[in-house]
Amino acid sequence: MTSTTQAGQNADVVIVGAGVAGLVAARELLAAGLRVIVLEKGRGVGGRMATRRLGAAVCDHGAQFFTVRGRAFGTLVREAHDAGAVAEWCDGFTRATANGGGMLPPGDGHPRWRGTSGMTGLPKHIATAFDPARGEVRAGVKVASIGIAAARVTVGIDDGSMLRAAAAIVSSPVPQSLELMVAGGMVPDAIDPAALRLLAGIDYDPCFALMLVLDRPSLVPSPGGIQFEAEGPANGPIAWLADNQQKGISSVPSLTVHATAAFSREHFDAPADDVAEKLLEAAAAWIDGPVSTAVIERSLQRWKFAQPKTPVADPLVVACTQPPIVCCGDAFGTAKVEGAASSGLAAARWAVRVLAGET
Ligand SMILES: Cc1cc2nc3c(=O)[nH]c(=O)nc-3n(C[C@H](O)[C@H](O)[C@H](O)COP(=O)(O)OP(=O)(O)OC[C@H]3O[C@@H](n4cnc5c(N)ncnc54)[C@H](O)[C@@H]3O)c2cc1C
Repeated sequence: MTSTTQAGQNADVVIVGAGVAGLVAARELLAAGLRVIVLEKGRGVGGRMATRRLGAAVCDHGAQFFTVRGRAFGTLVREAHDAGAVAEWCDGFTRATANGGGMLPPGDGHPRWRGTSGMTGLPKHIATAFDPARGEVRAGVKVASIGIAAARVTVGIDDGSMLRAAAAIVSSPVPQSLELMVAGGMVPDAIDPAALRLLAGIDYDPCFALMLVLDRPSLVPSPGGIQFEAEGPANGPIAWLADNQQKGISSVPSLTVHATAAFSREHFDAPADDVAEKLLEAAAAWIDGPVSTAVIERSLQRWKFAQPKTPVADPLVVACTQPPIVCCGDAFGTAKVEGAASSGLAAARWAVRVLAGET
């Protein structure tokens, strides 16, 4: 397909969000010959595939690893691997049956992948391969509304400017996507009522991520990750603990601690220092020496929309067909990083078909 960009239109397709779903969608649209603008409110690409520097340490604080099951995602990961952007981490993690209780050894034979320098490696790899003549990621641009005017999608930016496109793919977490469509006047009349019901029912768990820089190696067993048993009152506040140095992304010792959804929900509005102290206390068993001296730096991230509680079965939800506006991301299909990528791909393929007049 060749580009259909028309006068008064900035791109064939505007994509909201440069997480893995939005970027995989853009890659597919570009391969189909369309002109694409990806708008991302964050400073860089990746969304919840997030890596941060903390002092001399590098910490992944969103997604920690990904698995590969499908063929399309497998092809992308192989390509990223060949380019040096991702690497296999291990084939499973230590499992703690209860906090500080029984520990089951790692290894189930199924590869877990990481970015070579952090989880942003895969999204950065996808974005840097875009042909700049047709594909553009605009970071630091917050979308304020999505609406429809004269059979075009209108995308309002929070600085008051507006983009027009033939279609839109919306990959922000669903409650945020709905807010954009409400602000653009699509709700209730322009959105498909069944889609609205589905989208309105999608809910996410929050998650705290505590990043710690240590003055000596941690006590986390090889290969550097502990998954804690499903939530329960006896299991404490930690769901996951990773050693970023053993993982191979940090040159100095550092930990990432993820809280359980229950703990994160209960303490979501609590002061950061109180939350950090509670998580630190629970993580002390894997820190060598007194935490007061062994932890030399710390930072707490609050993810409001960490993971969907119950993704919808379909890989996309069509909000509108004329003009085409479709929602995608990890809330659609099989969730997690691979589910988000698959959803982005499905949304792009749908948009290509509709723009070509095939459906
Ligand atoms: C703490 C945590 C741990 C996780 N662990 C794992 C794991 O180990 N393995 C795994 O597979 N998955 C894990 N996940 C889930 C995984 O990160 C997500 O499923 C996946 O990254 C979602 O990708 P996405 O593209 O759908 O959404 P996102 O990555 O959230 O991308 C959406 C993008 O939209 C942007 N955006 C939102 N609103 C606007 C706006 N108004 N204007 C412009 N841009 C906007 C956001 O900034 C974001 O970059 C974890 C998630 C979290 C938070």
